[in-house]
Amino acid sequence: MISLTKAATVVCCAAVLMSCSGSGGKSASGAEPYRVEFALNTICVIMLYDQADNDVYDAVFARIHEIEQRMSAFLPDSDISRINAAAGIAPVQVYDDVFNIIQRAVKFAELSGGAFDPTVGPITALWGVTGDNPRVPSQQELDAVLPLVNWRYIELDEHARTVFLSRRGMSLDLGAIAKGYAADEAAHIIREAGLARALIDLGGNVITHGVNLAGVPWRVGLQNPLGERGEFVGITSGWDMTVVTSGVNERYFIEEGERYHHIFSPFTGRPATTGLLSTTIVTDASMDADALSTAIFVLGYEKGSEMLAPLEDVSAIFVFEDKSVSITPGMSFQLTDTSFHLVD
Ligand code: ADP
Ligand code: MG
Repeated sequence: MISLTKAATVVCCAAVLMSCSGSGGKSASGAEPYRVEFALNTICVIMLYDQADNDVYDAVFARIHEIEQRMSAFLPDSDISRINAAAGIAPVQVYDDVFNIIQRAVKFAELSGGAFDPTVGPITALWGVTGDNPRVPSQQELDAVLPLVNWRYIELDEHARTVFLSRRGMSLDLGAIAKGYAADEAAHIIREAGLARALIDLGGNVITHGVNLAGVPWRVGLQNPLGERGEFVGITSGWDMTVVTSGVNERYFIEEGERYHHIFSPFTGRPATTGLLSTTIVTDASMDADALSTAIFVLGYEKGSEMLAPLEDVSAIFVFEDKSVSITPGMSFQLTDTSFHLVD
C-alpha cells in the first residue's frame, strides 16, 4: 500500500505496486511517479518526486543491474561466480565495489561471531531455497560442507584488489547484504542528482530520503511474517532512515509438512530456529542494516541484542513465534495488529 496524498504515507512492499505495471504512468512534468523492475532476485521499486524527466530512474536502475551483474552467485560471469570457481585455486581480481562489500561482509561476520557469514554458499546451494528445486539435505551432506563455511578462510588483498577463498568447495553468497548495498547506492545517486525526496524499496530493503509529500515523517509498515504481503504488524516512522527485515516468510518451502526458510545457521547448516519470525533493523546505512538483520535473526534475541548494544543509531524489532514483539528502547514503533503484543 503506498499512498502519496495522505498525511500518513505508509510504505510497504513492492508486490502491490507490481500489479500497477512496470512504470508509474506520467505526471504533469512527464516523469514517472515510480518505477518497478525485477533485479537482485526481487522486486525493486523506486519512487522519485520533483524530477523533470526519467534520467535518475535510468541511472538508479542501471546501477542496480550493474551490482547484480557483479555480485550475483547465479550469473556465471559475475565477480562472485569467478571467485567461487577459483576457490582453493587462485585469488581473483574484482571490481572495487565487490571488494569493498566483501570486506564489509567480513567485518559483520566477525562482529556477529560468524552468525552472519558470506561463505554460507555451500549451505544455500544444498537447500536450494531460492531455486526451483528446494530439498532437505541429509546430515551427511551438511557435515561435508560445514567445514567450508568460515569467513576466516576469505583472503583479501587490499592492494591487488583480489579475493581468495582458500579451500576448494567454498563459495560466497552475498544474498544477505547485496540488496542493502544496492539500496545505499540508489540513495547515493538520488542525492547526487539533488532530488529532495525519494523512496527506495528493494524487496523489503526500504530507504526513505528527505521529507515526504505531506511534510510529515515517512511511515514504514512492518510486514506481518504470518500474514499476506502488505499486512503489517505495526509501523515505524522517521526521516532519512533505512528499514530492513529478515524473516521466515520471505522465501521458504514445505516438505513433508515441515516449513524450511532461507536464513541458515552457519553452525548447523539448517534454517536458524531461535524462536523468531522476523528481525528488523532501522538505521542509516542499508547495507549494515541488511547484514545486521540477518545476523540477529541467526543469533536470536539475547545474543542479537548483546551484539547491537554498543552500536550507535541502530534500532531493532524482534517478532517472536508467540506473536510477541520486542523493540529496542527509544525507537518509534506503533503496533497496529493487536493479535501481536509488545513485550519489554
Ligand atoms: P532477504 O534476502 O529475504 O532480505 P536476508 O537479508 O536475511 O533476507 O538474506 C537471506 C539470504 O542470505 C539467503 O537467501 C541466503 O542467500 C543468505 N544467507 C542465509 N543465511 C545466511 C547467513 N547466516 N549469513 C549470511 N548470509 C546468509
Ligand atoms: Mg540481510
